[in-house]
Amino acid sequence: MEQKIKKKKKFNYYPNASIIILIMLLIILLILITYQYIKYEQLISKQTTSEVVQDGNNLENGQAENNTSNNQTGNIIKIEIPEKTKKEDDWRLILINKDNPIPENYSVDLVEIEDGHKVDSRIADELKQMLEDARKEGLKPLICSSYRTEEKQDRLFKDKIREYKRKGYENSEAEELASYWVAPTNRGEHQSGLAVDIVSQNYQILDEKQEQTDVQKWLIQNSYKYGFILRYPTSKKDITKINYEPWHYRYVGKENAEIIMKNNICLEEYLESEEY
Ligand code: ZN
Repeated sequence: MEQKIKKKKKFNYYPNASIIILIMLLIILLILITYQYIKYEQLISKQTTSEVVQDGNNLENGQAENNTSNNQTGNIIKIEIPEKTKKEDDWRLILINKDNPIPENYSVDLVEIEDGHKVDSRIADELKQMLEDARKEGLKPLICSSYRTEEKQDRLFKDKIREYKRKGYENSEAEELASYWVAPTNRGEHQSGLAVDIVSQNYQILDEKQEQTDVQKWLIQNSYKYGFILRYPTSKKDITKINYEPWHYRYVGKENAEIIMKNNICLEEYLESEEY
């Protein structure tokens, strides 16, 4: 009888121990797999985040900053990498100059900003914010030109040609000279609703002294923060074929404006270069 019990005990002991060891091994294996998986996930997330930050040029500033802070705090958030919008597909970067007329059937949804001045509704908030912030600084910016119809651009251009003719210039010469001041019909940015001329309320004459006003000094320094660039800097006259106009601001979007401003290039150079 005693022997029987012993045998039974012996018989029960070994299978139990084996099962426990097996379960423990399985648990260890599971922990190891989970740990490796988490490490892999972290690695993937980090790569994705840093790629997005490098690609930040293509994002709104705010987004790019958020991504950077995620990296700093060590929070790992999976972020989808957005496809980079090609410059030629970006509505904010449409090139309108003497060689590039505004596309036929170009349509624009207009909204009034102030004093009857209208612009493309997509740029209204940033333009309003820029004017508001300038005014908070005690400045007095005044929009003196905004969206223009084809007819208005045509009229302004012809007026300028007449002005040169009165000074004694021949037709073609008068036209050439006029085009340095007023864009020819369908070749002016004002027809897109993406450009505004802003002057100082205290000095409303469109000449080089405009640049000396506090309003222009502030705008030249700060407009990029709102997505605007000074479109025709003097140093770029040979490329833009427009005389210096320290009052003509063109919307290109914040991230584009920042690159253009910081690299001291004009829109034509920005669009042609693969570098930026
Ligand atoms: Zn203008």
